[in-house]
Amino acid sequence: MAPITSSKPTSRRPRSGKRHSKVVIIGSGPAGHTAAIYLARANLNPVMFEGMLANGLAAGGQLTTTTEVENFPGFPLGIGGIELMDKFRDQSARFGTEIITETVSKVDLSARPFLYWREGEEDDPAAAESCDALIMATGASAKRMNLPGEDTYWNSGISACAVCDGAVPIFRKKPLAVIGGGDSAAEEALYLTKFGSHVFVLVRRDQLRASKIMSKRLRSHPNVTIMWNTIALSAEGDGNLLQNLKIKNIKTGEESDLQVNGLFYAIGHTPATELVSEQLECDADGYIMTKPGTAETSIPGVFAAGDVQDKRYRQAITSAGSGCMAAMEAERFLAEDEDELHLDEFNQETPQSAGSNGSGGASEINGVNGVHNISLQDDSPEPLKA
Ligand SMILES: Cc1cc2nc3c(=O)[nH]c(=O)nc-3n(C[C@H](O)[C@H](O)[C@H](O)COP(=O)(O)OP(=O)(O)OC[C@H]3O[C@@H](n4cnc5c(N)ncnc54)[C@H](O)[C@@H]3O)c2cc1C
Repeated sequence: MAPITSSKPTSRRPRSGKRHSKVVIIGSGPAGHTAAIYLARANLNPVMFEGMLANGLAAGGQLTTTTEVENFPGFPLGIGGIELMDKFRDQSARFGTEIITETVSKVDLSARPFLYWREGEEDDPAAAESCDALIMATGASAKRMNLPGEDTYWNSGISACAVCDGAVPIFRKKPLAVIGGGDSAAEEALYLTKFGSHVFVLVRRDQLRASKIMSKRLRSHPNVTIMWNTIALSAEGDGNLLQNLKIKNIKTGEESDLQVNGLFYAIGHTPATELVSEQLECDADGYIMTKPGTAETSIPGVFAAGDVQDKRYRQAITSAGSGCMAAMEAERFLAEDEDELHLDEFNQETPQSAGSNGSGGASEINGVNGVHNISLQDDSPEPLKA
């Protein structure tokens, strides 16, 4: 992945008269809530927009669409996805996060403070709210095929995450199928060989898109059969659990049954980056790019955490981990930003020292119309005095 080239917004503008926050979090999955817990405990009064069915998901994110989560540390007996996310939310709220059940539909990251609009207000400039730092934790969603029967057997045989669901009892020692031909499909299929009796990989074309090494591992596995030129037509079962796939060979036109108890989609995810795709550096698949080992995006003060910036691990625990990173980096950014503002005020009060400062950043800020409107928070430390 190419490194991002950081480009600092050069200008400042007045805060929103409607509402200004130090830090706003957009998104309410494990990443957003972990960031909120850290920021709230650091007394930064975070505001979270948890979304109103944003990106087709309930507040709480992807885990609200699953039954049992068995790999989140701290829950040795597993925990329901909705219950886990309720606990995340309770913990965010307990430390003072303001949680707003609305979707953010527009952002303007061209200057600081950053501006954002709530859904339904995006055409009204006066409705803009502002924040000094922004954490994007809008997540992603697995692409689905919308097969007949998919809704009936979703979470009852059909899944989009082998690592999440592969180990559950309904798949143990049972024939399973994976749809997809890329690295993810190969990885998922190989992972599933630990649990299923046999894994069928349905590939639409007559070759894999996966890397050579992954293709080789897949092809040589004794418990994997690759079905070339094959698509799924429908999912069937007893009304409770998946038992069969109707499949079709698109070269011969032949239709047949494939008796499997599990179907795993590995056809990609869609990151929820519509809000920022024109403003932040994103990769070819639309994921927000971050500086390696950090949550920093191409705009200082904007951080990204969770699945919206991670196409590799896509787990609740890794999302939570990156939410923690985003919070700690936002906290440091805000402290440095406040120092910069104090220095600026100091320079305005003592013009001779401003003249000798020589800092491009400070003089740029001084020159921007509206900077005088930026008032320090009540809880800010005293500005530096000469
Ligand atoms: C069916 C299923 C089962 C899974 N099982 C497991 C498992 O067992 N273990 C595991 O570790 N992982 C599991 N995962 C993966 C895990 O759910 C994700 O990795 C994790 O939820 C990603 O967290 P996130 O915080 O990045 O965002 P998400 O969980 O994707 O949440 C993002 C939230 O932000 C909201 N949002 C988006 N845009 C906006 C906006 N503009 N304004 C306001 N809100 C917005 C969305 O509505 C959503 O609620 C599973 C995923 C799925 C789909």
